[in-house]
Amino acid sequence: MNFTELNLTRPILRALEHEGYRHPSPIQTQAIPLLLEGKDLFGCAQTGTGKTAAFAIPILQTLYKQRQAGAPANTLQALVLTPTRELAAQVTQSFKAYGRYTRLRTAVVFGGVGQGPQVAALRAGVDILVATPGRLNDLIGQGLCDLSRISMFVLDEADRMLDMGFIHDVKRVIAQLPSDRQTLLFSATMPKEITTLAASILRDPVTVAVTPVSSTVDTVSQSVYFVDKANKGRLLIHLLADKAIVSALVFSRTKHGADRISRTLNKAGINAGAIHGDKSQGAREKALADFKAGRTRILVATDIAARGIDIDQLSHVINYDLPNEPETYVHRIGRTGRAGLDGIAISFCDFAEKAYLKDIQKLIGKEVAVVEEHPYPMQIFEVIPPQTRQRPPRADRAPRAERSPRAERPPRAERGPAVAEARDKAAAPRRKRRR
Ligand code: AMP
Repeated sequence: MNFTELNLTRPILRALEHEGYRHPSPIQTQAIPLLLEGKDLFGCAQTGTGKTAAFAIPILQTLYKQRQAGAPANTLQALVLTPTRELAAQVTQSFKAYGRYTRLRTAVVFGGVGQGPQVAALRAGVDILVATPGRLNDLIGQGLCDLSRISMFVLDEADRMLDMGFIHDVKRVIAQLPSDRQTLLFSATMPKEITTLAASILRDPVTVAVTPVSSTVDTVSQSVYFVDKANKGRLLIHLLADKAIVSALVFSRTKHGADRISRTLNKAGINAGAIHGDKSQGAREKALADFKAGRTRILVATDIAARGIDIDQLSHVINYDLPNEPETYVHRIGRTGRAGLDGIAISFCDFAEKAYLKDIQKLIGKEVAVVEEHPYPMQIFEVIPPQTRQRPPRADRAPRAERSPRAERPPRAERGPAVAEARDKAAAPRRKRRR
């Protein structure tokens, strides 16, 4: 199948050629024709499947055709809500890339930066708006954004919206939308809250599911190193001595940990940046831009900050900490091995994380290969309770002279008077008791 078979208009086909896309991905093949028919869609797809193009292409094509048919230019008709600023920026880039020959305008609004330029872009007139829910509600509240003509609405990464506590903001936005519209909801996982939300906002939707979260991307080769927590930094530096790891995204469970790991690497002469929620928008963008441009070799990220980071050709993902939710592991390793490229996912597992590894293997339905030979093998063994500890049989014990420190003591005559005195004092009460 190629894109021409999807009945796409010439300007979009040209843009896809420009991007170097040759064949639609499975979600694109399935979703694009249905969306062009105007159907609502419930998409179960994670990042890395090509889901952004799956919704951006039909939106652009529909608006382009309407424009050709005489619809007014630069009226806000399509809205995409995303949970993070990074994802919003990336989705905007995709719309701009696929729509480069359509003359449709896309703007993005998200928090953490001044609203001035965003308001100016809205005032100038846009066709498509990509937004995070908090900032969008702010702008609506100030009367700076009008959603009354939205005819296409996308809720992207709905499960992450729930996780991040944005659901009320999302509902406030939805309340502003005309009820006569096409709605698309994408989610990587399908907890009950998502199916309930879908039932309330979608009308007779078609469901498209690709790469369900339990099946790890097949092109990613996965391995695990058992290592003590204290040695993880050393093991990482050891692995990065291999120049074949051109660039890697390293995951840390905590923000503090992400900073610590990047400091450790920089001290060891390995260029690394960190990205997490406590960093300013500017610092996050800079860390990401440095990494994308190859100025830093390693980007250390927390899960939430990494959502929506789109890096082409990422060869390695390293789980410095294993996540406690097995689905997160699948999301993380889905960052590599994209669009048919081979990827490598390496995980560090310390003693306390063994249970997480077990859950992950259960979810993905296979064992992750253990790397046995490395310089920092796990030293912490399970402590056996004393009552079940067994003494070796008599014959296996060392001769007494070797076991007892007494054997090394000098003969009595050579010991100093202080030693003899102390011994006599200690012996005295015993003698008394015997009497
Ligand atoms: P997404 O799942 O939307 O985050 O997309 C993942 C990556 O795949 C992005 O870097 C896209 O540029 C890329 N991509 C999307 N569709 C295609 C395609 N048909 N051919 C090649 N790359 C694609």
